Amino acid sequence: MRTPAQGGSSRYEGNTNLYRGLLRRCLAMISQLIRYLVIEALIDRKRLRALYDYLNDESLGIVADRYGLDKDTIRGMASRIRQLGAVYLRIAKYVIPFVIEKVSEVVTFKDGGKWAICGLCGKQILVKHLGVVYIHIDRYHSTYVEKLVGSVIEDLRKCCRQGYR
Ligand SMILES: [Zn+2]
Repeated sequence: MRTPAQGGSSRYEGNTNLYRGLLRRCLAMISQLIRYLVIEALIDRKRLRALYDYLNDESLGIVADRYGLDKDTIRGMASRIRQLGAVYLRIAKYVIPFVIEKVSEVVTFKDGGKWAICGLCGKQILVKHLGVVYIHIDRYHSTYVEKLVGSVIEDLRKCCRQGYR
């Protein structure tokens, strides 16, 4: 069989382009997933721990009680990941521990969660809903987030390589 380097038949090249397209999409989705998890961890790693337990088939009610979170919060995180594709929920299960290990919270909450203080720029944010804090980190600290995404991917890569030895 000819390899793409040798030219290959047009049919083979067609497949190669198809797979390349799929692969590109997959890689983009995975970085999107990791980016989402990194931002959540910068806000509150507890939420990721809850999501992790929930994805590992623990009952939503028990997990919510354990971490003192709303059931809807945990369900919302899972459905946000499901929007990328159902398979990314399974990938998230594998990736979350890496994110928890690498990323520490930069946000502190006060007045019972009414205000959030961003440790990266000192801004005080009125928390109308948790999405406000997410948007702040996403919009104003993108470079920092990307750096963390890169280092989580690097850890995953190392771990995958070890698996093949
Ligand atoms: Zn900030």
